[in-house]
Amino acid sequence: MRGLTLQEATNEASLGENMYGTGLAKGLMLTLRHFVDSFVDDLRYGLRKYSHATDNFGLRQGTEAKGVITVQYPDEKVAVPERFRFVPFLIVEDEDHPIRSGKDWCTSCGICAKVCPPQCIWIVRGNDPDTGRPVPEPEAFFIDIDICMNCGYCAEYCPFDAIKMDHDYELASYDRTSHHIHDKEKLSKPASYWRDIAPTRAYEEMLVRGTWEHKDAAKEARRGSASASTRSSSRAQEPQAEAAPAAVATSAEAAAAPAASAPVEGATPWSEDDAKREERRRKALERKAKRAAKSGG
Ligand code: SF4
Ligand code: SF4
Repeated sequence: MRGLTLQEATNEASLGENMYGTGLAKGLMLTLRHFVDSFVDDLRYGLRKYSHATDNFGLRQGTEAKGVITVQYPDEKVAVPERFRFVPFLIVEDEDHPIRSGKDWCTSCGICAKVCPPQCIWIVRGNDPDTGRPVPEPEAFFIDIDICMNCGYCAEYCPFDAIKMDHDYELASYDRTSHHIHDKEKLSKPASYWRDIAPTRAYEEMLVRGTWEHKDAAKEARRGSASASTRSSSRAQEPQAEAAPAAVATSAEAAAAPAASAPVEGATPWSEDDAKREERRRKALERKAKRAAKSGG
């Protein structure tokens, strides 16, 4: 019997595959398998699969799950990734913050409004009622979330980490006018909310800022701490000058003390880290001063 050439062998092998209707049959089998799979889990787990217990949700969301219904929205929701972004919100201090409770992180610098591509941010800068001079906090802040295209530029460019992209995507309403223009009250959410929804980002930002606190507040706290320590050392050197200024100094210290970088009991869970970081910074400054003195001498 003669041997087959390569071409003949290939033709024979592909004859079976190219038989009319083979692909069609395969496709139908696949469809049938998916159809049957749709009910396999239902039969296996019965109604338990659709009860709202957490383990069942995990079961239906797992890689082994089969079937057509996987999430019972809106009763169940799939967690969004940390980098998910919807509309922006403004960070304010937590209610239980010891010295800045409810204070805005926003300084009304206006950068976010400038960079916003569809120009849907409107800010009114605050003024001191007594002096009429501008203060670094917004009196009003509006974002038209129907115009917002969720690009996240405002959050990227904000120099004070005061505006962030939210994970709340359920904002539909029947009102097409005022409901979707978010004012300052609607936009404001506590700093702890940001740490909850985006712990990794919040941590990265903290590393860059060097503190969990607002960077201006941390700066003020350091200044307050420095001036308090200067005052106390000068008092120690001049005991006879204690009488009159003592009361003033004490009240100034009392005001500065909580703002100081020394850990405030219950201020934030990270007070201890702040203190360590401050200590490292102090040592680094000392080393720098020594180097400068050496090179000068
Ligand atoms: S960029 Fe930040 S600090 Fe400046 S106005 Fe916008 S939210 Fe406020
Ligand atoms: S996410 Fe983009 S479009 Fe929306 S407010 Fe921020 S900069 Fe403007």
